[in-house]
Amino acid sequence: MMKGLSPDLTGQEARPVLIGHYSEVALKGSNRSYFESVLARNIRDKLGEGYVVRRVEGRLLVYPPSPDGNAMSFAKQVISQTFGIRNFSPAYEVSRDDFVHIIPSLFDLSNGGTFRVTVKRSDKSYPFSSIEVQAKVGEALLRAYPELRVDLKNPSVTISLEILRDRVLVYEEKLDGLGGLPVGTSGRVLALFSGGIDSPVAAFLSMKRGCDVDLLHFHPFNDAEEVRKSKVARLARVLSAYEPKIKLFAVPYYHFNVTFLTQGDKYQLLLFRRFMMKVASEFARRHGYDALATGDSLGQVASQIMLNLKLIDAAAETLVLRPLIAFDKEEIVALAKRIGTYELSLEPYRDCCSMVALHPSLRPSQEEVEKIEGSGKYDELLERTLGDLREIPVRGLPWVNGGGTHWEKRRAASTRFWDTHKSGRVNPSHEGSGQRGIYPCGQRADQSPCGKRRGVCHRSSSRYELFQHSLRPRGRGRGAQDRGQGGRSVPCPCL
Ligand code: ATP
Ligand code: MG
Repeated sequence: MMKGLSPDLTGQEARPVLIGHYSEVALKGSNRSYFESVLARNIRDKLGEGYVVRRVEGRLLVYPPSPDGNAMSFAKQVISQTFGIRNFSPAYEVSRDDFVHIIPSLFDLSNGGTFRVTVKRSDKSYPFSSIEVQAKVGEALLRAYPELRVDLKNPSVTISLEILRDRVLVYEEKLDGLGGLPVGTSGRVLALFSGGIDSPVAAFLSMKRGCDVDLLHFHPFNDAEEVRKSKVARLARVLSAYEPKIKLFAVPYYHFNVTFLTQGDKYQLLLFRRFMMKVASEFARRHGYDALATGDSLGQVASQIMLNLKLIDAAAETLVLRPLIAFDKEEIVALAKRIGTYELSLEPYRDCCSMVALHPSLRPSQEEVEKIEGSGKYDELLERTLGDLREIPVRGLPWVNGGGTHWEKRRAASTRFWDTHKSGRVNPSHEGSGQRGIYPCGQRADQSPCGKRRGVCHRSSSRYELFQHSLRPRGRGRGAQDRGQGGRSVPCPCL
């Protein structure tokens, strides 16, 4: 095990450093220096004052401001969340003159076991070969820890050395980084961010390929302040650990609902998705984004079949990236868990009036869709919608996924499970739940916009659907009416 700095090592002989290795293949060629400098700048920005970040012979060296463990832990966390780093190692930097004698004091190997030494000479002019250095360091370790045994094939400890022109780096652990390209090297992307499971993962993967990502969320509230308090802002906060400069924009879809309220259910989702594309493309054009990104995965739901995606794309006036297009839901969920967004994405959200739960037409007709749009004064709709766009501060929000006792976490998880997975079963303790006669916004159903009929705001598998009310139960009986079937959709009055 590698030791912390011991009192006899004054910091002159051995200096703690974090080594970051980046993907050689991706960074080859004449652009290498550019990629390296962006990567170093990203890490510097994240670490803040006190840390020194240097590019040295094809690797990054991060020096913490003090030899204490906290400073190094923070650097490890930052580098593990930075795109462009393939792997990293907490290490000691020692002088080339006497590293053989210093190395045994850097490790505590008194428990015995097996070891091997590996040596990489970045400076090929070094007078000793890698094998000679391995032998010398191995001998020194065996002298200091006589109970150790050498095992070249399956050792319990591997001590690695990198010999550079003016220093030697020594380490034991090699930890996986995120890989990818440094953020800021592949253009600017505006990611359509719903707060579900997929779109945070799509935003993450766009960042992974070096894109500078901002988020655009279409919200169901009167006031964008509600978004700041919601899981959408907290999800953006989680993503900010990977890209601290990420911005979250929120725009209401109230104007869309007012304009297209009377259009048939069949096309409403398509109209809504095309509306999001049009608003996002216009915003992207005005603010210099190179592309949009969505969390679509081919065939995941009806709105993501090829024909629908084609019609949605036709509304976008810019490139649309779909990093999840070939992912299965299980793969997306696994990635969301690794990123740290999954639990939050499951939290209920007041998107009761969202169009996204409606069942779209599987054979949409472009002519019909465009005809409906043509009747809706689209330019005015876009202007009014963009006029209500607000930036939601991402930094300064509380960190998530922390706090709470074991039992509080269990209870929250169980609430989420019922809220999310059991169609038709509603947890009545959940604020804004779909209890019969109550909208998720908290208003009573008998105060519906028409003022005449009672209704039910019910839930689909993972989302609130539109509040439904029925003129006639159409022979399906009261139960069907209560479940919201057989009626026309109207927006919940919280809009
Ligand atoms: P997610 O895809 O985030 O898990 P979802 O699967 O429930 O949410 P879909 O209906 O699959 O949502 O939407 C597909 C994509 O459309 C989303 O990944 C996202 O990019 C975009 N989108 C959907 N709803 C919104 C919204 N309210 N604001 C911004 N983008 C949205
Ligand atoms: Mg999805």
